[in-house]
Amino acid sequence: MSVNNVSINESIKPIKIASTNIELQESLLQQAKLWRKQLHSQPELGFKEFKTSAFIVEKLISFGIEVHQGLGGTGVVGTLKNGEGPTIGIRADIDALPIEEQGDIEHKSTHANCMHACGHDGHTSILLGTAKYLSQHKNFSGTVHFIFQPAEEVLGGAKVMIEDGLFDLFPMDAVYGLHNWPGLPVGQIAVNDGPMMASFDIFEITLTGVGTHAAMPHLGADPIAAAGALITNIQSIISRRISPLQSGVVSVTQMNSGDTTNVIPDYAILKGTVRSFDMAIRQNMQDMLTEMVKTLPLLYGVKGEIDYQVCYPVTSNDSQAYLNVKQAATEVLGANNVNINVEPSMASEDFSFMSQHVKGAYFWLGVDGATPSKPLHNAAYDFNDAAIETGIKVWVSLVESQLPKKPDSK
Ligand SMILES: [Zn+2]
Ligand SMILES: [Zn+2]
Repeated sequence: MSVNNVSINESIKPIKIASTNIELQESLLQQAKLWRKQLHSQPELGFKEFKTSAFIVEKLISFGIEVHQGLGGTGVVGTLKNGEGPTIGIRADIDALPIEEQGDIEHKSTHANCMHACGHDGHTSILLGTAKYLSQHKNFSGTVHFIFQPAEEVLGGAKVMIEDGLFDLFPMDAVYGLHNWPGLPVGQIAVNDGPMMASFDIFEITLTGVGTHAAMPHLGADPIAAAGALITNIQSIISRRISPLQSGVVSVTQMNSGDTTNVIPDYAILKGTVRSFDMAIRQNMQDMLTEMVKTLPLLYGVKGEIDYQVCYPVTSNDSQAYLNVKQAATEVLGANNVNINVEPSMASEDFSFMSQHVKGAYFWLGVDGATPSKPLHNAAYDFNDAAIETGIKVWVSLVESQLPKKPDSK
């Protein structure tokens, strides 16, 4: 996903974690940091996370956690049951990006044109550390599914895991996810009641005209003139047909037509993307764009067709699940370190497929230290290990609060 950094609390320096009611052993934190560096040095692209998956399986088994492999190909689900009670899922994405890592860190990627530029190595280590802690302390009553999901970047691994039976094989009452967030200090999180990330769709428009001599345009039908009108008028969907109080983006990002200066070509191709925070607006935008592509080019004698692909839904938090995260995080970080009602990001996230199936919440985890983090997807991105402690504490706090141990249980 490509993201814009948030500006919330930018002036706040990294702080110490306020509450210590969940004590993480230093040895566990050191181990999780080591795992993170190992994962960083061996990144793998979506659906090809074979070594990463084997690494996760080996660790989960060593914690005594039941393991299920194969969902979404390289996906892994670890299940920790401790008595009767509710069931929740916690998800980490595990894939890397096709970027050649820059810089000279010790644990730099050893794979050409592949690196953990989105910090999923951090997400994976945090969830492994959480699994280890919970398997040792078992201060909860119920079941936790640790979901290690492949291919978050563009390929929609969450959807594939669901199609492979994630929620049938592992029914759960709620599902939770996090993403590391440059621009937010270590020790803080941000979570909304409602949208966190936008929906993401792509389209390809084909304009078919009639080629002719450029000096005699009236003998043909000019797809470039139609494309120009279409590009300009597409923006009226946002400015004239969506309420000014609501938001959406349509961007034409690619245009292809013609070979030379004296020929009007017979076709033009436009490609682009649509983003929104509301599923009804998203549908409206698709409908209006389709209508415009079919009708407007006719004024130029050109035929317009659109191939519209619905990709990721809006990542929107369920109100109760949001409250659960907010309370669990406040418990371990202090209220000052839990940002709410933050501006959502127009980037997208396939966790949205999971939270469409069961109620869920997704939050951002601060990673800025004394030196601000590089942006996500930057070729020198390196997850800040200082955030591992915060991540594990929030997950443990969430499990212990949502799956409370009964007074009489051991
Ligand atoms: Zn990403
Ligand atoms: Zn990511």
